[in-house]
Amino acid sequence: MPLYEYKCYNCEKIFIVAMTLSERQRGATVQCPGCDSKDVRQLISPFIAKTASKTA
Ligand SMILES: [Zn+2]
Repeated sequence: MPLYEYKCYNCEKIFIVAMTLSERQRGATVQCPGCDSKDVRQLISPFIAKTASKTA
């Protein structure tokens, strides 16, 4: 399942959400686990690439 990194604009918490592609396409609502705010934005963060460069 792909992981998406989100930031809450209410409490500025950054959190990871595991979501299937179909859930994402349906526009599943993401809520902050810290304050239950829906004022969250997805971060375009290539954190998958970080693990790949570590072995170099
Ligand atoms: Zn929050």
